[in-house]
Amino acid sequence: MRTVEEYFGENVFNESVMKSRLPKEAYKAVKEAIDYGKRLTPEVAGVIANEMKQWAVEKGATHYTHWFQPLTGITAEKHDSFIAPQDDGKVIMHFSGKELIQGEPDASSFPSGGIRATFEARGYTAWDPTSFAFLKDGVLCIPTAFCSYNGEALDKKTPLLRSMEAINKQALRIMKVFGKDDVTSIRTTVGPEQEYFLIDKKMYDQRKDLIYTGRTLFGALPPKGQQMEDHYFGVIKPRVQAFMKDLNEELWKLGILATTEHNEVAPAQHELAPIFTTTNIAADHNQLTMEIMQKVARKHDLVCLLHEKPFEGVNGSGKHNNWSISTDTGINLLDPGATPRENASFLLFLTAVISAVDTYQDLLRLSVASAGNDHRLGANEAPPAIISVFLGSELTEILDSIVEDRPYGSKEKEIMKIGVHVLPRFPKDTTDRNRTSPFAFTGNKFEFRMLGSAASIAMANTVLNAAVAEVLSQFADKLEGVSDFESALHDLIKSEITAHKRILFNGNGYDDSWVAEAEKRGLSNYKTLPDAVKHYLDPKNVELLTKHNVYSEVEMNSRHEIFLEKYCKLLNIEYQTMSVMAKQDILPAVSAYSAELASGIAAIESAGGSADFEKETFAEITADMNAANKSLKALNKLIAEFGAIDDYEVLADKIKDEMIPAMDALRANCDKLELETAAEYWPFPTYGELLFGVR
Ligand code: ADP
Ligand code: MG
Repeated sequence: MRTVEEYFGENVFNESVMKSRLPKEAYKAVKEAIDYGKRLTPEVAGVIANEMKQWAVEKGATHYTHWFQPLTGITAEKHDSFIAPQDDGKVIMHFSGKELIQGEPDASSFPSGGIRATFEARGYTAWDPTSFAFLKDGVLCIPTAFCSYNGEALDKKTPLLRSMEAINKQALRIMKVFGKDDVTSIRTTVGPEQEYFLIDKKMYDQRKDLIYTGRTLFGALPPKGQQMEDHYFGVIKPRVQAFMKDLNEELWKLGILATTEHNEVAPAQHELAPIFTTTNIAADHNQLTMEIMQKVARKHDLVCLLHEKPFEGVNGSGKHNNWSISTDTGINLLDPGATPRENASFLLFLTAVISAVDTYQDLLRLSVASAGNDHRLGANEAPPAIISVFLGSELTEILDSIVEDRPYGSKEKEIMKIGVHVLPRFPKDTTDRNRTSPFAFTGNKFEFRMLGSAASIAMANTVLNAAVAEVLSQFADKLEGVSDFESALHDLIKSEITAHKRILFNGNGYDDSWVAEAEKRGLSNYKTLPDAVKHYLDPKNVELLTKHNVYSEVEMNSRHEIFLEKYCKLLNIEYQTMSVMAKQDILPAVSAYSAELASGIAAIESAGGSADFEKETFAEITADMNAANKSLKALNKLIAEFGAIDDYEVLADKIKDEMIPAMDALRANCDKLELETAAEYWPFPTYGELLFGVR
């Protein structure tokens, strides 16, 4: 048997492969492209392409693809073979530098939010050498950015790379004012923890809602849900264990650092965490992880549900985005350090994040918005839709003492002065046991917990990077060239924390009193995507993202359109599916059962018995069927009406205000009927079977 060391990264054209296979000059050039974003010459690209192909062909590959992340939120690939015909009727395997660097897929079938007029259907993909090429199912995949003929980004990766460049530039200015001239590049790092559900494929196949929408649209809660709290970190079932083993192997071959796996809170829910890496690579890896999870599950006759809320009344799935900033000299800028100087720089970066999160709450909220995530955020589960920052009591106390010009704690006598005093040690463990905070400091990184399980992590990190870059640029403006650096720094932190203190909250984020308190503090609370998207194009947000060249205004307009379009289309599938299931599956099943009850009543009574159970159930069911039928008709009326609305902005609001309540009403009627109907009549597997069906 091969060891993990032997096969780890074997399907990746990584640095060590390049080092051993490429001529020295070519390797040096590609290394500079990776580390400093230097452009590769066509000659070097040709050499790399040839070696890449050779390596892939030796491993059995026949095709290559530019692998990209269009605005659908999933990845896209179009396979081209390496074969090139020769005069003698034979072929050779060929791959040119040009083919490596640029591709030209037809862009017309990807969402562009109005950027790409149909007459200009061409889109371009451009190689991102910082993310390694890899082999997947016999295809050489080349990570690329995707843009239109005019150079507008049509993908999620390009803005992410631009935001990383923005934060690099501004954080380097800060490094300079701290005299750290040896730092030449700064990167954000991310470790996304991925939650998911595993259910049995045979049961999945019987549910139209899961097949079409990825979540259940009907289903009464089983007697046992998550109330026993026996699933979290519980013993992993053998079938799930076998899936996890396979999954790890596949991910490791792709050089993905999957490391932690455990059962989550809800039955059938699990989590996979990787070791953190540079943000764009983490984003690529997370997309691959989601894809491979689904593939491996199928091999085990399981289905992996990535939807944020597959089951009503049971915890949903998120993606905790652990985020930090590091220098190429190996310093984590969110690590408090041990000396006054390190502490000072730490406090400045901490302050920058706090200020950025407060100023751009709305953008951050939108960056995690989706129809699926609306069921988590703003509903009664972690985390709430209100953005706040958790720091823990020690760190809060330190900041308070700075703001109030007083000594820290009861033992200290001297007033806390940044850059002079050493911060008291605050043990990492005590900084994070608040699971309800949407944005928590966890000792040497922040954990942004609002991301949905199904979404790409690209936009959340794009916004976060851009917002922090903007605050850092303001800080650099204030600190560059000051004569008394220590005092300027102290005053800056003090005034910033004073201005943004409202975003700090260490309490329970689920508590109703927090909603009222947050409102008093002026924090935003956008419960749904349609609510949040209204603020995307606010002048301050356009200013932020265009100033740092993260998006152009045209690109922002297109994202705005796509948010709404995607929301409306998803909901459209959901309500159509509900209507079909109610009409074709649920009501006919209940009707058949009630007919049996009716004939049973007649038969029992004519035999001289008393059909109490049958009569009472029949009465109950008849009443509830009438109610369900009414709800279905109301839903269908809205469906017909909404079909005529072609403005997504109008439609999204109407869906939120009218359709979702209509869907909820129909569901409530049908879930009640489920509990009244004989089990053998129910047309598809119940929650109990779905949640406890993997044994
Ligand atoms: P916890 O104590 O919360 O379990 P861990 O250290 O286990 O924290 O980390 C949880 C996740 O955070 C992992 O994916 C880990 O790789 C990631 N992580 C750790 N340090 C960093 C960092 N500096 N930047 C980004 N992510 C990080
Ligand atoms: Mg977690």
